[in-house]
Amino acid sequence: MSAATQHVDDESFDALMEQVARFVRERLVPMEQRVEEEDAVPQDIVDDMKAMGFFGLSISPEYGGAGLTAEQQARFQMAISTSSPAFRYIYSSNLGIGSRAIALDGTPEQKSEFLPRLATGELVGCFALTEPGAGSDAGGLTTRATRDGGDYLINGSKRFITNATRADLFTVMARTDPASTGAAGVSAFLVDRHAPGVSVGKPEKKMGHRGSQVADVIFDNVRVPAERLVGGQEGQGFRSAMRTLDHGRINIAAMGVGMADRMLEEAIAYAAQRRQFGSAIIDFQLIQAMLADSQVDVQAARAMTLDAARRIDATGSAVKEAAGAKYFSSEMVCRVADRAVQIFGGAGYIAEYPIERMYRDARLLRIYEGTSQILQLLIARQMGRERGIRFGR
Ligand SMILES: Cc1cc2nc3c(=O)[nH]c(=O)nc-3n(C[C@H](O)[C@H](O)[C@H](O)COP(=O)(O)OP(=O)(O)OC[C@H]3O[C@@H](n4cnc5c(N)ncnc54)[C@H](O)[C@@H]3O)c2cc1C
Repeated sequence: MSAATQHVDDESFDALMEQVARFVRERLVPMEQRVEEEDAVPQDIVDDMKAMGFFGLSISPEYGGAGLTAEQQARFQMAISTSSPAFRYIYSSNLGIGSRAIALDGTPEQKSEFLPRLATGELVGCFALTEPGAGSDAGGLTTRATRDGGDYLINGSKRFITNATRADLFTVMARTDPASTGAAGVSAFLVDRHAPGVSVGKPEKKMGHRGSQVADVIFDNVRVPAERLVGGQEGQGFRSAMRTLDHGRINIAAMGVGMADRMLEEAIAYAAQRRQFGSAIIDFQLIQAMLADSQVDVQAARAMTLDAARRIDATGSAVKEAAGAKYFSSEMVCRVADRAVQIFGGAGYIAEYPIERMYRDARLLRIYEGTSQILQLLIARQMGRERGIRFGR
């Protein structure tokens, strides 16, 4: 695997980051409460994100995107994630899991058909791996794709699919080899949401991340042309999915850093103005300890995330480092959220203050794109591989 080309130079990237900081401050943060109440992101924000090129940030310039490196993407995600995560879901599946399998493993025809339209936001992509019976054990998926002349017929159900309600293009993992078990025999398909037999369930009611939606997707004898098999080769789907998640985990780690940065700022501002026992609570050393622990936590997660991103840029792969960054950052953001609620005292438990929402929003990061436990196992397995030792079963 080769080193990534840097298409956007440092000066242009700095200008983008300034634009993002202004957008977050002036447009997104003031809109957070409305998004929480209406459980939807206003269309003018979506339009602004399209106009600013957010949908194509990771896609190669050859296909109309900006071609940011993994490190630049991580920095961008950190900056955006200082606002509500709902905004990020608008473009982030096109930046990540909804386009990555095509970009990494698609045929030249698949790349030219879909990447330019994903880059402009004309199409919204999403990634359908999880099933009712296959979550952490993704290799246990039972959705079937059966060859039928020049097509495949897809049957099965996917669960908790982010953006399913608004996506146009699903990257669907399905078993092409019925005799196989586990990861072998799984292939990735590009499925049009309007294909007969595709139905999307009602959006789930969630603990947090209001303004984004997850839903089931059912495939009932959905006819998909063989040209929509990612890479044109059966049995490569699980590998594509895992490589996609490798990148995806760096983005989730970056999200944790951005969310923690914001909560820390909120906690400092609150502690500086809240007075008890005749002084601002920030003067109390036990409050300072919580702030300092949070600062150290964020600093470590930022360093790990950028390190994993640079490794991907340098070598094309960073399984252990990406899993480690996501594991640490997602646990870290929950620790920071907990301390922030504590610093806010009773106000931290009241929905009028943003910390209550942020505490709920942080929790998801330890679950999706690999739970903390699955990442621990993955990291240990990689440690074993590097030493030629097989850990466990
Ligand atoms: C809001 C949201 C958005 C999502 N978006 C998407 C999406 O866009 N696309 C997609 O495909 N999926 C998506 N998911 C699914 C998500 O990736 C899964 O929920 C996650 O992988 C965990 O699977 P599960 O829910 O089936 O939990 P389970 O696998 O049932 O796990 C339950 C518990 O058991 C633990 N566990 C399981 N196996 C082991 C083991 N071997 N050792 C130790 N502990 C273990 C887990 O860590 C967890 O604590 C989303 C989920 C949510 C909630």
